[in-house]
Amino acid sequence: MNDYQFEINLSSTKKQKPAFDQLVFGRNFTDHMFVMDYTEGRGWHDPRIIPYQPLQLDPSAMVFHYGQSVFEGLKAYLTEDQEVLMFRPYKNMERLNRSNNRLCIPAIDEELAVQALRQLISVDHDWVPNEEGTSLYIRPFIISTEPYLGVAASHQYQFIIIMSPVGAYYKEGINPVKIAVQSEYVRAVKGGTGNAKTGGNYASSLKAQEVAEKSGYSQVLWLDGKENKYVEEVGSMNIFFKINGEIVTPELNGSILEGVTRNSVIELIKHWEIPLSERKVSIDEIYEAHKNGQLEEAFGTGTAAVISPIGEFFWNDEKLVINNGETGEISRKLYDTLTGIQKGKLEDKFGWIV
Ligand code: PMP
Repeated sequence: MNDYQFEINLSSTKKQKPAFDQLVFGRNFTDHMFVMDYTEGRGWHDPRIIPYQPLQLDPSAMVFHYGQSVFEGLKAYLTEDQEVLMFRPYKNMERLNRSNNRLCIPAIDEELAVQALRQLISVDHDWVPNEEGTSLYIRPFIISTEPYLGVAASHQYQFIIIMSPVGAYYKEGINPVKIAVQSEYVRAVKGGTGNAKTGGNYASSLKAQEVAEKSGYSQVLWLDGKENKYVEEVGSMNIFFKINGEIVTPELNGSILEGVTRNSVIELIKHWEIPLSERKVSIDEIYEAHKNGQLEEAFGTGTAAVISPIGEFFWNDEKLVINNGETGEISRKLYDTLTGIQKGKLEDKFGWIV
């Protein structure tokens, strides 16, 4: 299975681990990291595992100036039998290559990347937290490293994987969030980079998030960048609705990021033979469905929260409260099923676990 040999340079000192029952997201990092270089003419070379450490980059490294970079996010979980399971890592590496393609970054070998994850996790396996709801968050990313100020694709890159033990997303069970519909700022436009996982998309989303938080909402509902009419995503999650018995999610249109959780939810809904459609969904349709009592549930999907039920939308000075602000039946069932498979408690019928 493993034909990939990486040079491994183990850290001589081990860091103090944080208390696994008090983890916060993305603040603590394991003892090691994976690094691989790309040089024009040589391709990707020197895959290695080294002690976690700062990078040394030239101030003119292209990533600092024009943002040519991509990243991924996935999780590994510890089972009751002390096995470490990754959830659909091949899907993330496929998406990384789609992002690479959009950002003019050379493709990586997806199998090599998954083998790198396996080896890195086995080196740092005592960093996978065991408390209820915790996991090891994995962040693969690629940056352009050539020292050059011209606006062009870099000739040098680094592919790096770092890992961070993270706490339960929901401290007291899954909780519906309040969402403000955003009609001034947009996240992405057709033909842009919305369907790639690249830093600039997140930098440009911060302003709207700040505005939403100031008015007491936890996240933003993004509408399309052209007509300001069709629902695209919620915060950095994909979105689903249950309207009159049918599950509806915006179809992939080039400006929506194709979530691994979205894909898994669609497979589960189909497996359960619940009616589902991927199509355009306008904010007016959501408003009407709510008015007619047909908007039964809404929820976001993503690696961080898995399922994030939506209890309220704020739109045009009106509060649209969904399912009395409580977690809906489908949201709950999806959450229990996905987290059950991820933790090895439920049978992995779909072959999602590595
Ligand atoms: N949309 C955006 C913009 C995201 O950043 C993410 C998180 N990667 C998602 C959707 C959900 O994707 P996934 O289910 O793969 O985490």
